[in-house]
Parts: sequence; C-alpha cells; structure tokens
Amino acid sequence: MSVTVVGSLNEDVVVTVDRLPGRGETVIGSAVAVLPGGKGANQAAAAGRLGTGVHMVGRVGADPAAGRQLAALADARVNVGRVQRTEGTPTGTATIPVEADGGENLIVVVPGANAELTPADVDVESVHRAGVLLLQLETPLDTVRAAAAATRGTVVLNPAPSQPLPADLLARVDVLVPNEHELRQLADAPAGELSPAELAELARGLGARSTVVTLGARGALVVPADGPAHVQGPPPVRPVDTTGAGDCFCGALSSALDRGETLADAVRYAVTAAALSTTGAGARGALPDDDEVQALLA
Ligand code: ADP
Repeated sequence: MSVTVVGSLNEDVVVTVDRLPGRGETVIGSAVAVLPGGKGANQAAAAGRLGTGVHMVGRVGADPAAGRQLAALADARVNVGRVQRTEGTPTGTATIPVEADGGENLIVVVPGANAELTPADVDVESVHRAGVLLLQLETPLDTVRAAAAATRGTVVLNPAPSQPLPADLLARVDVLVPNEHELRQLADAPAGELSPAELAELARGLGARSTVVTLGARGALVVPADGPAHVQGPPPVRPVDTTGAGDCFCGALSSALDRGETLADAVRYAVTAAALSTTGAGARGALPDDDEVQALLA
C-alpha cells in the first residue's frame, strides 16, 4: 500500500538573533537559513526517508521557493506529482527569528498557496486508494474533511495547529495524534497536571476511534479503540534539537500502520524514529532511515 499526505508545504526562513526584537525595534541577526518545512511536507519526508511509498497532495506558488520545496521532497523519495503550482499566490512561508543558544523564538506563518488547496484537489486516486491518509490542519478544514471522507484507507489526523474540530471529521479519524497541549485544547481541559489515565479519559471523549498523545521526552500515550491505555517510553538518546519530532512521529506511525503493524507496535516504531530525529539539528536534519530505527528496536 502507500501513505498519502494531504497538507502544507512551507519554506522556513530561520534567522538567528541574540535576543528577539521588541515592538518597533530593529535588531541585527547573525545568520539566516532557508529550510524546507510545513507540517504536511515534513511528515511526508519522514515517511519517505523510512522507505515507505508516499504521495504528497498540496499546493505551492509559481515561485523559486516552490522549486526548492519540491526538490527537497523528491530528495526524501516523496512522489510530488499531485503538488500543484498556483499562479498569483506565493509558496507558504514561516519566518522564525530564534535566539542563539536555544532561547525563545517567534513564528510568523504566511499560508500562501496552502490556503488555496480545495476539496476538488483531493478528489484524486492517491487519496481514494491510500493505505494510510495522513492529515494535519495547515490547509483549509473543508479540504481536510473532504479528504477524510473520500478515502478508503486508515485516516491519521495530527490536529495541529490546534483548532475546534467538527464531529463528522473526528468520527472519520482512525488515529488522532495530538500532543498534550492540543489534546487539552480539543477537550477543553482545565489547566494543571494530568496523569496518563486522566489524559486517556480526555482522549476517549473526543470521538476518534483511537488516539495517540505525544508526550515529548516521555514518549507517547496509546489510547486504543478497545483495551487499556499505556505509555510507550522512548529509547535512550541524546537530544540536540526536538524541532519537527512530532512530524517525524506522525510520518513514522503512518509508515508502520501502512505495513499492517498493530497500533501498539506502530507507536513503538514511531517513538523510536522520533527519538532518533532529535539527535540532529532542524526539522528534517536527522530523519532516520528504516535500518537505523530497526537497529534501535532490536
Ligand atoms: P510536538 O513536537 O508536536 O510538540 P512532542 O514534543 O510530544 O510533539 O514530541 C513528539 C515525539 O517526539 C514524542 O512522542 C517522542 O516520541 C519524541 N520526542 C520528543 N522529544 C523527545 C526527547 N527529548 N527525547 C526522546 N524523544 C523525544
């Protein structure tokens, strides 16, 4: 089978500064890096690097950034035949000033062509026939909904950036993959520490078949459709940069589900791949291949 990702492609412009500017202030940066990004494309690249057949469905502009994004995806072995160039609107960009030494950052996203992805764009064979359809929320909600309704495959939804979701979409989701913050927002939970059992109870109230809550350095909480919830811890790694770990997790989880693994096994695989992705800089800088993940799982 194969994984189809319907989602965003962005160009990330990361600017290093000693400290973030205040309102109306100019500061001098020390470095600029132009990197491939967008949650959809990052997740597709993670699955492609792991050796899974991946199709990307999305939109870029008709500008030089589009060429860079398509080349980066093709380099990760992602089929980009269904990424359309859109006249009159730019490729999505995220401009990210970040303080040196891992300090604070700011992010300004201009969705550009991502906002032009329509329900008609997802009425395509790669969506209908996907083994796993992997979705996020950086493209219009109507399009996400249409894609989920059109597929016969397993629907995985990473509800990021967080926004309220209609019940008909959640009812079509086989595996919802929020981080803890997104779960709390979706469930309208009060502030304060929650145990895994309490998080599982929140997840069960949302309406998806099953849920996997990513817990950062603690791994992930598996809340299956039937049976008890459990936490899958990560293997020991030395994290350097956790940017994009959630995207790697979603791509790896979808790869394993596409191969027919059980949810528990797929989460073990995803937790291992995501841990490896934190050992290098950047969202796509340290995406592992399948051999590296299998070696750590053995
Ligand atoms: P997001 O980046 O979307 O906020 P998380 O921070 O929950 O998501 O991270 C996603 C996954 O990446 C986690 O479930 C875990 O498997 C892995 N991960 C993140 N941070 C670490 C870390 N410090 N050490 C090991 N694995 C990590």
